[in-house]
Amino acid sequence: MADQIRLLPDHIANQIAAGEVIQRPGSAVKELLENAVDAGATRIELLIEDAGKQLIQVTDNGKGMSELDARMAFERHATSKITSIDDLFRIKTMGFRGEALASIAAVAQVILKTKRPEDSAGTLIEIENSEVVKQEPVASPDGTSIAMKNLFFNVPARRNFLKSNASEMRHILDEFTRVSMANPHLFFSLTANGERQFHLDPGTMKQRIIQLLGNQYQTKLVNVEESTDYLQIAGFIGKPETAKKTRGDQFLFVNNRFIKSPYLHHAISTAFKELIPADSHPAYALFLTLDPAQIDINVHPTKQEIKFEDEKIIYAFVQAAVKHGLAQFNIAPSLDFELHAGIQQLDAVSKPVTEQQKAAASSSSLYQSFTDKYAAHKIDPSSRGKLTNWQSFFETAQMQNHPSSTASSLPLSETLMNSESSHALPTTFLQVFATFIVADFGEMLRLFHQQYAHETILYHQLKKTFRSGKSIAQQSLFPITLHLSPADSTLLTELLPDLQPLGYLIESFGNNSFIVRGTPPDISDENISGDIEWLLEQFKHYQPEVSLPREEKLIRALARQRSIKAGQLLSAEELQFMVTELMQCESYRTTPGGQPTFIDIRKEELFSRFGLRR
Ligand code: ADP
Ligand code: MG
Repeated sequence: MADQIRLLPDHIANQIAAGEVIQRPGSAVKELLENAVDAGATRIELLIEDAGKQLIQVTDNGKGMSELDARMAFERHATSKITSIDDLFRIKTMGFRGEALASIAAVAQVILKTKRPEDSAGTLIEIENSEVVKQEPVASPDGTSIAMKNLFFNVPARRNFLKSNASEMRHILDEFTRVSMANPHLFFSLTANGERQFHLDPGTMKQRIIQLLGNQYQTKLVNVEESTDYLQIAGFIGKPETAKKTRGDQFLFVNNRFIKSPYLHHAISTAFKELIPADSHPAYALFLTLDPAQIDINVHPTKQEIKFEDEKIIYAFVQAAVKHGLAQFNIAPSLDFELHAGIQQLDAVSKPVTEQQKAAASSSSLYQSFTDKYAAHKIDPSSRGKLTNWQSFFETAQMQNHPSSTASSLPLSETLMNSESSHALPTTFLQVFATFIVADFGEMLRLFHQQYAHETILYHQLKKTFRSGKSIAQQSLFPITLHLSPADSTLLTELLPDLQPLGYLIESFGNNSFIVRGTPPDISDENISGDIEWLLEQFKHYQPEVSLPREEKLIRALARQRSIKAGQLLSAEELQFMVTELMQCESYRTTPGGQPTFIDIRKEELFSRFGLRR
């Protein structure tokens, strides 16, 4: 038999390697923007067509490349940024592996124009499938412009894998936001489909954060700045009242590179503890600087994770710095430490606040106003307010679906009567652990989970409402304005058409603002912004499920968001309502997500456990 092992042709090997670096348009945007920053540019312009699927172009006024360098830049492991292995440990941005341009050239049609200030002419290079198809001198301004067209044109499987334009655009916005936030002294612009979306004049870090996250942060940012021999932290945190239920306004940079660290997020969130509701996320844009040798660079640079040599110190430091920032602005109880004295003192930081300090702080009017403000939003488990609301929502929805039925008598449909248990539906229900509903079904005892049951009910109701196409919105007396982060705002824009049949009349107002003109009858206007944030958060939860249509995800998210949660006490009528309503649903055994809504314990089983026969 002939030998079977063959070497992959270069262009295929390149395509495979490219998959690691360039996963979607957003990854290319990140690499190109970072290269422009590295090239010392002061003006960086990003041009996008068709969410990057057609065109991603970055133009900078940086140092440019010589003719030879321009050609070399597209070779794998070609980089001007590392000359020895030691450099790897000194490099601050961790982004240098000389792979980005090679990867881009493997999966797109690339046109590079570049000129160094000292050269009289520039260089034009066109590459396709990793092969140079054109190279010639060209008149060009100083700097570099790289256009990549038809991303994944030669890798259909990957191209098909790309998500909707709105979703890919969101990734692009995320990357643009991160790079431009880390470089406030540079000019950035973003133009998508001919429309200028961002025009960021150079300024201070605070100005840049406000440009990116919105004017609502104007008076709501608190400075954080601490420095030790070992590490520094600088940046801003949002005052507690800016905390939102959705994530998005959390930015952590290490050596000026955006990273995701659930561990440090926890450090920051817990510093806010008791100042914000438990399910909210504080806004922050924090920059850590430390010796690159303290960072494990083996973690892949395109993944945004990071490993620190000494995680615990960094955790304590970040948390202390945030607490200190809050304390300095009289937002949180003042702590008895002086951070500037050095990291050694961190022990003192983690000590709990004394009772005395707590008392002093909680009597301060500022603290009072926080807690009072949020107390209004807290859902009192014994309060039935919400429940009454959802009942009236059903009634409205039902009247629309069955105009003849009256709101007070809930019709038990045929399906129910013919359902698997021929036994008449039970009439007494018992709530246990404020979570389960027990009912006697004749041959078995059925244990419902109140939240899953309700989620399922709502899901089917919402689906009907959605299908009917008749909006159930109630006009708001006073339209409410919402301000969202660019990413959330893109997401909401994407959802607007589907939200309308579900009762939300929301209009985009530009600049990441929205006007809410109407809401479903069961939703009070008063907390609409928290409501929308929560909805977006729930929606993101379903985001990875590519196979689900968007409206399905939305309906699931809404159902989950509005469901009665475990822990809420229910009245006898409510218990009955929950069970009967659930059993009328088309598929009532599981939530749309597949959680069982109830479990059965057979009568026989119960008897036999007592050693009885029946
Ligand atoms: P890396 O950034 O890791 O070095 P890249 O593949 O991103 O690898 O880029 C390869 C090389 O091309 C860089 O090291 C740099 O010398 C050059 N280069 C890339 N983009 C630019 C740019 N916008 N301006 C000047 N030089 C650039
Ligand atoms: Mg690079």
